[in-house]
Amino acid sequence: MGRRVERSEEDWRRELDAEQYRVLRGKGTEAPFTGKHYKTRDAGTYVCAGCGKELFVSEDKFDSGCGWPSFSRPMDQVEERRDLSHGMDRTEVLCPDCGGHLGHVFEDGPRPTGLRYCINSASLKFKKRE
Ligand code: FE
Repeated sequence: MGRRVERSEEDWRRELDAEQYRVLRGKGTEAPFTGKHYKTRDAGTYVCAGCGKELFVSEDKFDSGCGWPSFSRPMDQVEERRDLSHGMDRTEVLCPDCGGHLGHVFEDGPRPTGLRYCINSASLKFKKRE
């Protein structure tokens, strides 16, 4: 529906590994403390594992203790949508370019934003700054 990056389900399945597909396309959640990036502290940029869109920078990453990569803000506008699934009232975060599921945003983050973007490692690729 007018996204910059559109693929058929078949193409997504081919391009993504099983965990990326489950999370990005199936709105899955990786188990806490298991993802590739929850402990990453290097300087760099986190891009969408589906389409490569730049989403978060390391300067906005913080250790929330929740077991998923946590950021106080996105680099640019991301898509946010109310999510009433699983008996909870949450705000889902999606990649604006491909519509991939990234995670959720909560209002218990550090100042000044007060936000915690709780993002699955499987939805991200890390590009280390040279
Ligand atoms: Fe994307």
